[in-house]
Amino acid sequence: MTRAFNFSAGPAALPEEVLRQAQAEMLEWNGVGASIVEISHRSADFMAVAAQAEADLRTLVGIPDDYAVLFLGGGATTQQALVPLNFASPGQRVDYVVTGHWGKTAVRQAKPYVDVNIAADGGAGGFRDIPPVSQWRLSRDAAYVHVTANETIHGIEFRDMPDVGNVPLVADFSSSIASEPIDVSRYGVIYAGAQKNLGPVGIAVVIIRRDLLERAGQPRADIFDYRSHAARDSMLNTPPTWNWYMAGLMFKWMLAQGGVEAFAKLSQAKSALVYDAIDGSGGFYRNDVAAAVRSRMNIPFFLASEELDARFVSEAKKAGLLALKGHKAVGGIRASLYNAVPLEAAQALVAFMADFQKRNG
Ligand SMILES: *Cc1c(COP(=O)(O)O)cnc(C)c1O
Repeated sequence: MTRAFNFSAGPAALPEEVLRQAQAEMLEWNGVGASIVEISHRSADFMAVAAQAEADLRTLVGIPDDYAVLFLGGGATTQQALVPLNFASPGQRVDYVVTGHWGKTAVRQAKPYVDVNIAADGGAGGFRDIPPVSQWRLSRDAAYVHVTANETIHGIEFRDMPDVGNVPLVADFSSSIASEPIDVSRYGVIYAGAQKNLGPVGIAVVIIRRDLLERAGQPRADIFDYRSHAARDSMLNTPPTWNWYMAGLMFKWMLAQGGVEAFAKLSQAKSALVYDAIDGSGGFYRNDVAAAVRSRMNIPFFLASEELDARFVSEAKKAGLLALKGHKAVGGIRASLYNAVPLEAAQALVAFMADFQKRNG
């Protein structure tokens, strides 16, 4: 068996230790005589796994007690629709800062329910930079301000999250949660699909300042109501139990690796290797994102032609470097460097980049 270096943007690489533990426990878990995927979510055995995962995520991310933590099916896009349903009244003004593809998606999910003000939009500049906060047209009466902490496709990341005053800040942290310390108390809501940094696809984490759960929001079914999920510890209906368990294994693994401080150092080191390789290539490789907002997690880059991009991706795959094809919205190459991607993967990538340039430059 050969496990290649996996640069997938999501579903993404998982640590071998986590996969091995899941494999070892697949047929019979924790002495219960069945797999964890075969037992009730309401069993004491599973409830303990769920509670431990929440406790470990609180430790890992530093989530204060006055925040609820939900584990929900439906991924990040579903949260983009639930946020306006839960935190803004019908037609109420909300502010969105659009810094790439996922910001646009968030706007699309909110529009049926609320009056979306695009406070800033990096689209005119081709999403190469984050518009300076001095130029944001924030509304005085917005129900919340929505930002995308890391734009997975365009490779743009807020390095310093701006202060938006008393309006609750709602942040999509799908592709950068747990990759560095963040001050949760600065946010009203943080949400993240698991399949980038937290485990397999199929579950999302939603972190909500509890006072926001008192907001009336829009008329909505129970199942779309964060309050109802919070009141039932995310077991209003059957939660994605296997994904919750796997995310729990990831949390334990990340804590054992040294937590978010360790991953901040690691992601800094990995991304610096790749950006240095791009910037030092004399233009053979190109990344157009402003240096101050370059993502540590997802690095899109381009060669001189689509034909060369395609050759790079296919030769890289043969060399054991997987999933480097860029998202179809932007093309080119994309290297995703989530927490489970080791430093050796980034080293192998830059070695391959140098070799490929020598042969094709
Ligand atoms: C992947 C991603 C999403 C979409 O997640 P789904 O789970 O597929 O809905 C949303 N936002 C960001 C920043 C992402 O990286």
